Amino acid sequence: MGRAVVLGASMAGLLAARVLSDHAEEVVVIERDAADTGYEPRPGVPQGSQVHALLPAGQVQLERWFPGFAEEALAAGAVVPSPSGTRMYVNGVLQPPPQRIAGSGIALVTTRPFLEAMVRRRTTAIANIRILHGRAEGVVFTGDRATGVRYRPTGESADADATIQPADLVVDAMGRSSRLSDWLEENGWVRPPMQRMPIKLNYATAMFRRDEQISDISVVVSQTRPAPDRVARIGGINAVEDNRWIMLISGYADDRPSRDPAEFAARCRRDFPSVFGYIAEQAEMLGDVITYHQADSRRREFHELERFPAGLVAIGDAVASFNPVYGQGMTSAALHASCLSAYLRGEPRLDEPAREYFDKVRVVVDAAWQVSTLADLALPRVDGPYPPGYALISKLGDMVLAMSAVDPEINRRMSMVTTMLAHPSTLARPSTLVRAVGARLRTGLRSRASAR
Ligand SMILES: Cc1cc2nc3c(=O)[nH]c(=O)nc-3n(C[C@H](O)[C@H](O)[C@H](O)COP(=O)(O)OP(=O)(O)OC[C@H]3O[C@@H](n4cnc5c(N)ncnc54)[C@H](O)[C@@H]3O)c2cc1C
Repeated sequence: MGRAVVLGASMAGLLAARVLSDHAEEVVVIERDAADTGYEPRPGVPQGSQVHALLPAGQVQLERWFPGFAEEALAAGAVVPSPSGTRMYVNGVLQPPPQRIAGSGIALVTTRPFLEAMVRRRTTAIANIRILHGRAEGVVFTGDRATGVRYRPTGESADADATIQPADLVVDAMGRSSRLSDWLEENGWVRPPMQRMPIKLNYATAMFRRDEQISDISVVVSQTRPAPDRVARIGGINAVEDNRWIMLISGYADDRPSRDPAEFAARCRRDFPSVFGYIAEQAEMLGDVITYHQADSRRREFHELERFPAGLVAIGDAVASFNPVYGQGMTSAALHASCLSAYLRGEPRLDEPAREYFDKVRVVVDAAWQVSTLADLALPRVDGPYPPGYALISKLGDMVLAMSAVDPEINRRMSMVTTMLAHPSTLARPSTLVRAVGARLRTGLRSRASAR
């Protein structure tokens, strides 16, 4: 391949560029935000101020593409959570300590801009990758293929003609609001069908100065599952670089935390385990409370299109973005990049649509979508779309989830899925289901015996 052009230099775009650098003479990445923004959040990634957890599968992928990544991140200030400072609460009840998953590497806890800056640094150090700053305004199509990108370099007048960047392969990594579907339609192609699940999620995040005198906490997750007498909420505290804690509280629909610091502290005290309220009241808040609303999870079904131009793919949130409470987004982007690598290593014909790529990505999207939407369908006010066989799947899922609290092996298999190291279908295997039924029978017998 001569030149590949990637639109967007966030997690997906940078990882795509890294993969493409092995296959193209030159990789050009076009990004609308200013050059290196260091470790600060930036306008093109407005969710960057919110808590971002990198799942173990994402960590494995980053290490694959950038060997030594974890060590480098640690040297730059990433935090490794201490086992004694890690707590998980479900419905207010402290859970057994999480098990270490073999092969998942060092767990890194950082802010999102820090992680992205580390990936950007490694990507831009590769000789055949360069970043151009400007806004992509369209894809150039010639016959049945994409042959370039129209973009406006930063600072150039809106009256001037857009600049064309020719390409053998164009990669859309412009995130969940990507305009690729509009550009396809404007050029006589069919837009990919979009599936949405309305979740109406509300986040509020605040940063605090970390102080061992106040707490030795490094990671806390608090999840309240919906029930007639319970409101679904997720909260989290992460110890991050520069001796800080980042704290998240969230709610759905009308349960909407505001930017008021006093209200933030009051919600921490009222709705979450006591460590939330304690840190919110005792530690120094750094900066403002920052809120974020995500209306839906969404996926674009590129694989369903009968006609699609050659020389064009999409990656990351531009394909699918999920309820962020499950922390799947950056790991999905990294897995899509590995799909791109597998596709290109197969030496495909670039004058044909990249169907094999979209088929691979679909496997990753289906898996993440299944995990996140199955949980979200239990939320009040979320009423579909339901997958075929939903009633049975959710019954079996509830049983395996409940038994993961009592059977360490089921807990391990469950963790492999929630950390994206294994496909959710592994939980439907007879060996797991039989084990879960056995655990339920044993638990039932024990509780009947103790009731006597
Ligand atoms: C509140 C919240 C919390 C989250 N928490 C987590 C978490 O804990 N763990 C996790 O893994 N994921 C999390 N996510 C998801 C994660 O943020 C995304 O999945 C991830 O950022 C996707 O990366 P991306 O590169 O596909 O898109 P984005 O990060 O959205 O980047 C798109 C890029 O394209 C650029 N761009 C857009 N349009 C143009 C244009 N016309 N021209 C040039 N450049 C353009 C933008 O400037 C930006 O750099 C969270 C998301 C939200 C909303």
